[in-house]
Amino acid sequence: MDTEKLTIISLLMISSVLMLWIGILTLRRRTMAGPAANALAICLFGVSIYSFGYALEVSSMTLSTIMLWVRVEHIGIQSIAPTWLIFSIYQTGRGKALTLPRIIAIYIIPLILLLLAQTLGSLNILHPNPRITITGPYAIFNYDRSILIYISLIYQSLCVLASTILFTILFVKTSPAFRKQTIIFLVGSLIPWVGGVIYTLGLAPYNLDLTPITFTVSSLVLAIGFFRFQIMEIIPVARDIIFDGMRDGVLVLDHRDRVMDFNQRMQQMIPDIQKNKIGKLIYDEIEAYPDLLKLIREATVDQMEPQEFDLGGNQYRTSITPLLNKYSKRAGKIITFHDFTETRQLMDKLEEFASLDSLTCVYNRRYFFMLTEQEIQRIRRYGGKLSLIILDLDRFKMVNDHFGHIAGDHVLKTVADTCRDSIRKVDILGRFGGEEFVILLPETDVKDAEILANRIREDIAKISLPELTSSYKITASLGVADMGAARDISMEDLLRQADRALYNAKETGRNRVCVYSQEQETKHQP
Ligand code: GH3
Ligand code: MG
Ligand code: MG
Repeated sequence: MDTEKLTIISLLMISSVLMLWIGILTLRRRTMAGPAANALAICLFGVSIYSFGYALEVSSMTLSTIMLWVRVEHIGIQSIAPTWLIFSIYQTGRGKALTLPRIIAIYIIPLILLLLAQTLGSLNILHPNPRITITGPYAIFNYDRSILIYISLIYQSLCVLASTILFTILFVKTSPAFRKQTIIFLVGSLIPWVGGVIYTLGLAPYNLDLTPITFTVSSLVLAIGFFRFQIMEIIPVARDIIFDGMRDGVLVLDHRDRVMDFNQRMQQMIPDIQKNKIGKLIYDEIEAYPDLLKLIREATVDQMEPQEFDLGGNQYRTSITPLLNKYSKRAGKIITFHDFTETRQLMDKLEEFASLDSLTCVYNRRYFFMLTEQEIQRIRRYGGKLSLIILDLDRFKMVNDHFGHIAGDHVLKTVADTCRDSIRKVDILGRFGGEEFVILLPETDVKDAEILANRIREDIAKISLPELTSSYKITASLGVADMGAARDISMEDLLRQADRALYNAKETGRNRVCVYSQEQETKHQP
């Protein structure tokens, strides 16, 4: 056997084994790829049988063995083209059209031809007058071209043509991201045409049938495309699910602040950002959102402090992550908008709960101190007036003792409401403890504070509650102090002065208002 013949046979054998191996690999990944993988595997096995049969045909010297291998080859020849078509239908997303009757219809002609091919050596229906012609080193199998053999060729060509058309349509319609994969399929389905043209034009060496070789090459291309396509298909799907399922809005901008990508949440936040805006400058798209515009304009990747901003009544916390290209150069930035409206509302609620006295719903002692301290600081800085009233119910112990604790609680609540009704919005009312209340009065001098204190005292004296007997009168004593000229007075001192005045009111008969004065201080000094 000369080396040329040996090369051809080796090539066919290698192709046969290779196709068999890739076919098995494809079947193993079937669960991931579905029916398209099955079709591809059958195609590959078909090419494998064809190459194997042809290798043995070429190496045979007698007509009977040649005819045996031609019969084997036809298992491949008849199955490749229709299965190729079925693969293309699945791969181009038209698998739903493939009902069982249609699949049978596609295979019926090749099946009949396969059966007729098996008559070679007896009735010779597909290959009339089989014979050997010796060309160069090869014993070439020859036969009279019957109408049936033309039917076989035409049918195969039609199947490959249909596949080529399907992949061409997909190529035109598919998004640019998938073009690369589609072009692989297109090339794969075009290769057999090239082989066919060379063979038909008589350009093939020694008139060798190039089909098994071209089929091998294109099957290889197809398999590569298929596996790449599957992988590429899964990644975008996973990305879409995660990206669009996020509760945070994500906006991807390039180094010139052009829109590169965004997720569904982002689009809900800013409906002006749409898919057709990709590649456009973000500034033009968000003119209606000045806050956001400012934030993006000023957002540099270096200044990564999370910022808070309000959009449509929702609170967002934004963070910026630099986007680096594969050379670690800045290619843009990712801006994440974390919606923390609910958290903010929860925090506000918690703060409110923590600041209020549970019985009377006025500020508790801790919160009142905090607000008073702030107010004193403010007045120290900017000037102004500030007065303070301390209120203590008279003989309150008796209320509890006579009418019970629940009635006592009710009195406390009513007194708190009475105070609240008498003061302005800017005034701060707190429960100092037990039956004592405090009122901080910004921009109020001691005279006005005294007037207010008296009004409150009178209002309290008017309270009548069903739990209490009509003869029982609720009264309160109040002490008033103010910041006066002493700007450096501390909160403790102010409270102490008001308390001193209150003590005075109790001392002098209760149900009255006393204003703090320096004399009281000296009077009570031990
Ligand atoms: P004074 O005129 O000297 O202020 O007499 P008082 O009885 O009001 O004075 P004292 O401070 O001795 O009594 C305060 C009472 O307030 C003691 C307590 O039973 C009552 N008290 C304190 N906190 C509450 C409360 O939350 N609910 C009720 N029902 N009573 C309270
Ligand atoms: Mg008291
Ligand atoms: Mg009291």
